[in-house]
Amino acid sequence: MSTPQSGAILAVLEQRAGAWNRMSFETLAAVQQLAGELGTQASAAVVGAGIDALAGELASNQLEKVYAVEHDLLKDYTPDAYSLALRQLFEQVKPQVVLMPHTYQVRDFLPKLATSLGKVAVSDVIAHRVENGQLILVRQLFQGKVNADVRFAGDAPHFASLQAGAYRADQVAAGSAAVEKFSPQLAPGEIRTKPLELFRESARAVDLSAAEIIVSVGRGIKEADNIPLVQKLADVLGAELAASRPICDAGWLPMERQVGSSGQTVAPKMYLAVGISGAIQHLVGMKGSRTVVAINKDANAPIFEVADYGIVGDLFQVVPELITAIQKAK
Ligand SMILES: Cc1cc2nc3c(=O)[nH]c(=O)nc-3n(C[C@H](O)[C@H](O)[C@H](O)COP(=O)(O)OP(=O)(O)OC[C@H]3O[C@@H](n4cnc5c(N)ncnc54)[C@H](O)[C@@H]3O)c2cc1C
Repeated sequence: MSTPQSGAILAVLEQRAGAWNRMSFETLAAVQQLAGELGTQASAAVVGAGIDALAGELASNQLEKVYAVEHDLLKDYTPDAYSLALRQLFEQVKPQVVLMPHTYQVRDFLPKLATSLGKVAVSDVIAHRVENGQLILVRQLFQGKVNADVRFAGDAPHFASLQAGAYRADQVAAGSAAVEKFSPQLAPGEIRTKPLELFRESARAVDLSAAEIIVSVGRGIKEADNIPLVQKLADVLGAELAASRPICDAGWLPMERQVGSSGQTVAPKMYLAVGISGAIQHLVGMKGSRTVVAINKDANAPIFEVADYGIVGDLFQVVPELITAIQKAK
């Protein structure tokens, strides 16, 4: 990677209809850390229409600049408009490294944007380090079995997206930044897709990545009729209910509640795994959780390797006692 310059690290943050995606602040924390370690400055960009308030909010963070990338054609997300607008921003700002949260939206447009500039995008990064002034990104391969170090080569800008929970939103440093409006040149004819209503899989669709506490249930629950027991635990904790894949495959809970490599990636403050063995495909979806609590009757279950607190016992005994104890403590 060539030597970073002032304003070299840029975060492109995500909002929809004026509300931040929670992962945006994780990306903000990451650019601040990176800029500190590389001895350069971090900036952030927000893209949309009518985004003054969001840009103003960002300005209270330790950043060199906040770019409000504003255009009527950016009101609703389209990959064409976002890519064109951001390319124009990069031509002006000349960032060294551009970081984004690894959201569905970023997954949609980042490869196109990077390719249009003849670059690659390093996706789903879980960590970084700086060695001899060189940035090294870490990403998982083979369903999380192997961690790979990745270095950028060639000219800037370099692109990466960050896995949910890889960086901590509560570590964003406050400060003050100047807001700069950026008005890209966009024409309706350049946008080939027409955004319709947002698609939701079902009326109960849930964004587990936004949950602070998750109670997750696995095959240890034995049968569908026992699900209300863990639902009750989730209710007393004010938690979202999630599950391992066999539970969703069996139709005991909807697919949108599945955590893991073929489900959602979550990073709550607390993840309580009930009767889940801890297969690698499950772990990749939740090991970014701040605190992991596991209840399993098998002391050798792999889930205990990532758990901060473990209860070895029969969930049909432990969970009712836990519910009573939490109710008493309230
Ligand atoms: C391509 C691919 C993608 C996959 N994607 C996902 C994914 O996204 N998410 C996912 O979760 N899995 C995924 N899997 C499946 C994964 O490999 C495991 O099969 C699955 O995670 C196991 O689910 P489980 O832990 O609920 O069940 P099990 O592995 O059967 O574990 C059940 C656990 O419950 C414990 N238990 C049993 N009875 C009790 C009791 N009374 N009290 C307490 N503990 C008890 C047992 O000791 C055991 O540890 C995927 C697999 C493949 C091949």
